Amino acid sequence: MFKRSPVKKNINPFCLIFVSLTCSLALALPTYTIFHWYNNLEHPIKAHIGLIEFTTAFSVALYIVIFFVSGILFNKLSQQHSEARELKNFKNFTDILHRATSEVEVYETLYNYIRNMHLANQITIFYRNDRSSTDFLWQRITNERMPLCTMEPRNCPLIKYGRECSVKNIATDITCAYQLTEHKTGSYICLPITIGNQTLGILQLYSKSKYFFDDLIVSKVKSYIEVAKPIISSKRAMQQLNKKAYTDKLTKLYNRNFLETYLENQIEATNLSNECLSVIMMDIDHFKGVNDKYGHAAGDAVLVVFAQVILRCIRKTDLVARYGGEEFIAILPATDTKTAVGIAERIRETIAVEPMPKLNDTVLPPITCSLGVATYPIHADNKNNIIKVADIALYKAKQGGRNRVEVYNSDLDLNTLMKE
Ligand code: GH3
Ligand code: MG
Ligand code: MG
Repeated sequence: MFKRSPVKKNINPFCLIFVSLTCSLALALPTYTIFHWYNNLEHPIKAHIGLIEFTTAFSVALYIVIFFVSGILFNKLSQQHSEARELKNFKNFTDILHRATSEVEVYETLYNYIRNMHLANQITIFYRNDRSSTDFLWQRITNERMPLCTMEPRNCPLIKYGRECSVKNIATDITCAYQLTEHKTGSYICLPITIGNQTLGILQLYSKSKYFFDDLIVSKVKSYIEVAKPIISSKRAMQQLNKKAYTDKLTKLYNRNFLETYLENQIEATNLSNECLSVIMMDIDHFKGVNDKYGHAAGDAVLVVFAQVILRCIRKTDLVARYGGEEFIAILPATDTKTAVGIAERIRETIAVEPMPKLNDTVLPPITCSLGVATYPIHADNKNNIIKVADIALYKAKQGGRNRVEVYNSDLDLNTLMKE
């Protein structure tokens, strides 16, 4: 059985010595005085009650009084002590929360603090991890090694209504359909972490004892959730802003800003791993013609299809970004030139046969693209140069008649190509 108290009570040994000395004095002094007084007393009662009986009875009575008084005092002191610790704990929690760098870190901090309060046998935090505006996953943080997501929060009534849910006795009460099946007895409570009208998380506390979670525990946990909520909200807003700043509005691919930072980090990682990193620069052939003949909206639709094709052809570990206009760039970490050429060829072949969208009853004709491949550190020694040489290879592909893949080689010089 675990402690019900949220905070461990550590008693200072000096405090104990002081209390013992005070109690001993408080007991010894009056005993001595009354002994002295009774000894000198000349009263007929002395014939019935002897000195020893009198002082023993007096000491016992005094002992009981002191025991109760010191008990009350001690209780009050330790209560104050535990309240001070709780307050300090809460202050630490708010300080650490404000230093959190991400939404997940806020959930982790909340989880760690609630766990250290020893309020339940098992604590779980479910939180929403948004992959896009419509698609999200439920992740969880827990101290139990259980198969992942025996509970599916997506179906949980708490998510739908945003209200807390408490089951006081699992054995007899109606539990929700998604209660963790391994708990046959005890009690549990689920508290929502709701921001606006969205439930972004659930804090679930489970106890082996039934009827365990009283108002005091619930209000304590809620006060921690309340502090975490605005921080979660601000971290989410920040994340969304960052996402917007790094995403191309039309194709939803990463933009050039993101690409530059990403490429820099990847080159650093490549230096440590002694591997190669390849870059594919892509450009739609005669794209101006699409705009001129079918209009700008048609051009936009073609760009979206092209982005989708690239995404389909690259691997999960690769990254694609819109570099500008109808130019795209793919970063392929841990990839040599030969593999990169294979991927580039796949993109080239796929786009040439990809059906284009229909616009106002006009089916747009298929498009082709030209691609330039370069590999770090073989063809360039830094971030800017690798893009530059991939661009030179692309230029060569255009010069060579378009709809082709070219690999950079040092003989390719932009000035000589221009002259050709
Ligand atoms: P090349 O084969 O040599 O690449 O010829 P191109 O016509 O594709 O190249 P050019 O650079 O002459 O034209 C690119 C065009 O892409 C011009 C520009 O208006 C168009 N463009 C750039 N960004 C967008 C966009 O976001 N939407 C649309 N519809 N067109 C765009
Ligand atoms: Mg073009
Ligand atoms: Mg271009």
